[in-house]
Amino acid sequence: MLDSSARTIRDDIAAGNVSAVDVCRTFLERIDAVNPSLNAFNLVAADRALARAAEIDRQRAHGVSAGPLMGVPVAVKDNLCVRGMRTTASSRILERFVPPYDATAVERIEAAGAVIVGKTSCDEFAMGSSNENSAYGPVCNPWALDRAPGGSSGGSAAAVAARCAPLALGSDTGGSIRQPAAFCGVVGLKPTYGRVSRYGLLAFASSLDQIGPICGTVSDAALALGVLAGPDPADATSSPRPVPDFTAALTGDITGLRIGVPRAFVAEGVDDRVRSAFDEALDTLRRAGARLVDIELPHAKYAIPVYYLVATAEASSNLARYDGVRYGHRTADDGRLELQDMYRRTRDEGFGAEVKRRIMLGTYVLSAGYYDAFYLKAQQVRTLLRQDYDAVFEKTDVVAMPTTPTPPFRLGEKTDDPLQMYLADVFTVSANLVGLPAISVPCGFATETDGAAPQRLPVGLQLTGRLFDEATLLNAADAYERLTDWHVQRPG
Ligand code: GLN
Repeated sequence: MLDSSARTIRDDIAAGNVSAVDVCRTFLERIDAVNPSLNAFNLVAADRALARAAEIDRQRAHGVSAGPLMGVPVAVKDNLCVRGMRTTASSRILERFVPPYDATAVERIEAAGAVIVGKTSCDEFAMGSSNENSAYGPVCNPWALDRAPGGSSGGSAAAVAARCAPLALGSDTGGSIRQPAAFCGVVGLKPTYGRVSRYGLLAFASSLDQIGPICGTVSDAALALGVLAGPDPADATSSPRPVPDFTAALTGDITGLRIGVPRAFVAEGVDDRVRSAFDEALDTLRRAGARLVDIELPHAKYAIPVYYLVATAEASSNLARYDGVRYGHRTADDGRLELQDMYRRTRDEGFGAEVKRRIMLGTYVLSAGYYDAFYLKAQQVRTLLRQDYDAVFEKTDVVAMPTTPTPPFRLGEKTDDPLQMYLADVFTVSANLVGLPAISVPCGFATETDGAAPQRLPVGLQLTGRLFDEATLLNAADAYERLTDWHVQRPG
């Protein structure tokens, strides 16, 4: 059962082959067994999950029709609000925050029958690429415990890879679903900006943030997106566009599909093993009938600086609300502290180093003297990047790149060098800046032999699609998955 897809588990429960409670117990036992060595969960909600599973079994006994995620255990990134369940964004400042409401994404998966098993660790406020910025300790990569699972949704990706749940929710601002999915050898989908409501997601950068699934197969990503997608009056940026049947789009046929490959952009700084896995994946797609088209993304080389200006600017504004007054941590106050000192101490105690760095950088680029030179300029280059993609999608249907330039790096390897860490996002941030949907699927392994025992390190293939065309994107990814067996490999 631990190796089953969400879809299979749902079908088995709906058919009465297994009870939701048994499924839930099996996954909770798995979490107990492996989480001590992974630290993927900030909170395991065993009692709530079992009660919920029992409720689903009762509904089934009474003939209530099955939801698309009936009885499926789901792990939820700890920056998504679940009513009554501690939600910390892996920050000290929200150490004791218990939301009085559900995120829309959470409400929708539960309405579809999902059983939330716990909250997964992430980089603090989703800022990071290695999960090492969590206030509650790093997460270990299930494939190599001394390596990073990626970030910021590192807990969700590690949990799925280690079969603690067949499905997890993550959020992606600059790669936080796709990069950890690639590092952990699982599937991660960032939907089009506006496809999924952000209501109840603790905001990092509001023009970039998007919620999406991390799971074992493309078909499960299609299933989850169908549940998550659609307009929400609580999020004005959620799109009213109709939601197609993503599962029906998975035909396995990609004959004639035009796949753009930005050769010059992926030429530099890419690990040889990643490159050969990528080349091999392109070959597989070509043999399946797709047409590879050379494309150029002339402004993609500016995507990292643009992203780290726009994202930090928005973060500095979004995180202003953590002031010790309305909610969250407040410094010990004997009543004699000046207001400004209370704010300063609260924020100094509550935020970690990376979050502080970004608040300072973001405040700086928005300040009167530097706004035009940095923030405004970044927004202008963002428009040029969008025009690059507009041109590319006139002659291609999807764009292929490696998800990350390297296989998973060692824990601690990049923590002293923020710039090196930021470069891990070189292939993922463009999709967020332009709003495009993008998916990472397993496409091979890099073998590392310099340790005591050889390690198999997952590599991801990233496909990017047109705005709101997740159907084509998922079909391409699913067709690739059908021809390969990377996604069925499991860590030891
Ligand atoms: N790694 C990127 C960052 O640190 C992206 C994070 C994300 O997508 N939330 O900002």
